[in-house]
Amino acid sequence: MSPLSSPACPMCRRAASPEHAPFCSPRCKDRDLLKWLGDGYAIPGDPVDDEALDNESARD
Ligand SMILES: [Zn+2]
Repeated sequence: MSPLSSPACPMCRRAASPEHAPFCSPRCKDRDLLKWLGDGYAIPGDPVDDEALDNESARD
C-alpha cells in the first residue's frame, strides 16, 4: 500500500487521473487555477514600491 500509487485530487480528494494529475478532472484543475488567481488579487502592493518612492522624494 503505497500512497504514491494512488494520489488523491487536492481539490476533492478523489482518485487523481494521470491525464489531469495531480487532479482528477479538468474541473478541479480550473478550480485550483482560480484559487491561485484569487490569492494573487488579494496580495497588497509591493512594499518595495514605498521605499522607491521615499528615496525619490528624498533625492528631489
Ligand atoms: Zn478532483
